[in-house]
Amino acid sequence: MADKIQYGPALLLPGDNIHITTNPDTEPFWEAAKEHRLTACECAKCGHFRMPPSPYCPECSSRDKKWPTLPGTGTVFSFAICNKNPANGEDYIYVPIVVDLDGAPGTRLNANVTGCKAEDVTIGMKVTVEWTPIADGWVLPNFRAV
Ligand SMILES: [Zn+2]
Repeated sequence: MADKIQYGPALLLPGDNIHITTNPDTEPFWEAAKEHRLTACECAKCGHFRMPPSPYCPECSSRDKKWPTLPGTGTVFSFAICNKNPANGEDYIYVPIVVDLDGAPGTRLNANVTGCKAEDVTIGMKVTVEWTPIADGWVLPNFRAV
């Protein structure tokens, strides 16, 4: 069996170069993030969660939404190890993950993970949210290994 490649610490991308756009369906998620609350879009009629948020519930077609505060924890569903900063092409180790969110069945969120070596990220790893300031006063949820 080959030796595991050693990448080193999984870094978060610097927030200065991260810009987001919002729309009426996504803005409540981002407003909650400013308050360091992780949320997901839940149908106020039938309770079905959906991420990304959309105008209508795919289960019952209701337009009514709720934005409950989630525990802020989750489980890594998938990941990739990247070695270049997309902003400038310089060597930079970061690990985009897809997280199954606790408290919102069926929802997944794309983010980055830190608090461990890149080579130690695994599917099934438990993570907890942390908050990264980004451009224009917004705040991005990322995750830390627990
Ligand atoms: Zn519904």
